[in-house]
Amino acid sequence: MRIFNTLTRQKEDFVPLVPGRVSIYCCGPTVYDFIHLGNARPLVVFDVLRRHLESSGLDVCFVQNVTDIEDKIIRRAEEEGVGHEVITARFHAAYHEDAAALGVRQPDSEPRATAAIPDIIAMIERLIAGGHAYVAGDGVYYATSSFPDYGRLSGYDLERLEEDSGGRQVSSEQKRDPADFALWKLQKPGEPGWPSPWGSGRPGWHIECSAMVLAELGETIDIHCGGQDLIFPHHENEIAQSVAANAEPLARYWMHNGYVNVDQAKMSKSLGNFFTVRDLLERFSGMVLRFFILSGHYRSPINFSTELLEAAAHGWERITTCVRNVNFLLSQAKDIEKSSLSPESQDLLTTARQNFKDALDDDLNTADALASVFDLVRALNSQAALPEPPLADLAAGLETLEQLLAVLGLDATEEATAAGPPQEILQMLEARQAARAARNWAEADRLRDAITAAGWRIEDTPRGAQVYRA
Ligand SMILES: [Zn+2]
Repeated sequence: MRIFNTLTRQKEDFVPLVPGRVSIYCCGPTVYDFIHLGNARPLVVFDVLRRHLESSGLDVCFVQNVTDIEDKIIRRAEEEGVGHEVITARFHAAYHEDAAALGVRQPDSEPRATAAIPDIIAMIERLIAGGHAYVAGDGVYYATSSFPDYGRLSGYDLERLEEDSGGRQVSSEQKRDPADFALWKLQKPGEPGWPSPWGSGRPGWHIECSAMVLAELGETIDIHCGGQDLIFPHHENEIAQSVAANAEPLARYWMHNGYVNVDQAKMSKSLGNFFTVRDLLERFSGMVLRFFILSGHYRSPINFSTELLEAAAHGWERITTCVRNVNFLLSQAKDIEKSSLSPESQDLLTTARQNFKDALDDDLNTADALASVFDLVRALNSQAALPEPPLADLAAGLETLEQLLAVLGLDATEEATAAGPPQEILQMLEARQAARAARNWAEADRLRDAITAAGWRIEDTPRGAQVYRA
């Protein structure tokens, strides 16, 4: 496989450090809110990386952290008047649900920052001892000037960064240099804190990843990945910390996915132009969202619009329809002679597999991989349309199609592909229950008709009324 390495800015042959094994660390979510489609993109993309490496016969260890202490979490907890654990437990659970709906597998390990405090403190102590960090009035900082390679990953010019912030006052109570960043933040009134040699406080965001990579996977890993917005400062800082503390490279390959844009601007919480996965799942299945993300190259920006998602839904439907039709034909047949697979079909399947693998081997080109999936779908559709469909060919073709889809994490079964009822329908269902309880039969009937007219059917079950697609 060839991978575009952000560190060298070129495609390189991927050679794992230990033959046959791959260690991957992917920066995970800060669990203070629901994830949006921009947050979902790295989850889906690097889940495919993991599946593709596994399908190529490699033993992959995939680690993804959870940031469960951070300014945004503290702010939200204050707003709601609850402990930070209440916020993180709620959004960590929601994150798992959303990731599962998108067909993203659980990582092999999912370390949490607050459970890694001893590892974090040990690394900060080593950085101080090595002259790479210093204690200031409000915490411990990393001295970027102590690391000559700072800026290599991002191409960021430290001198320019310093010039740009030349007008800013840096108080002696705090960091010495504007480019320095916090490793440990001392506790302020009302904030959570953990004991440390420098006083009660909490870790900075960057040190958390450096400490967890070391604890989970060792000094040097094969692939470190995340969104493009993490290149600077987060990944630059991770390198500065880990290399200074361990005297070994942090990662051999750095992979970064592009943004999801809305009207040319990056989808983000701060711009307010975001669509949560949750909201989108009310209209589209997780598989449609996944298909949408995979239909572009992971390093290119993708534009988001409802029209483009509808086009993705249409594209995905072409695949699921083919799977359904072929399954139906095969279910009608008594027994299928596997040996009667035609040489043409054999060639077709070999070519489809090869093209698919070549595409993913070329820096995870999922768009080209999907093109070979569609080649196969077209061939299966024409075989299925013959007066005497070649059942052995169709059976082998369907098997190949499902194997290729599995590498992309796409599940063409009806359950995976059905989107849940939208909020309006659920609200009408609740109102109908209330009307029935109040014996207002006319209103209950009116609501039932409205739900039916919207394409949903109600089933009264022992667990209460449920709605299904009509
Ligand atoms: Zn990270």
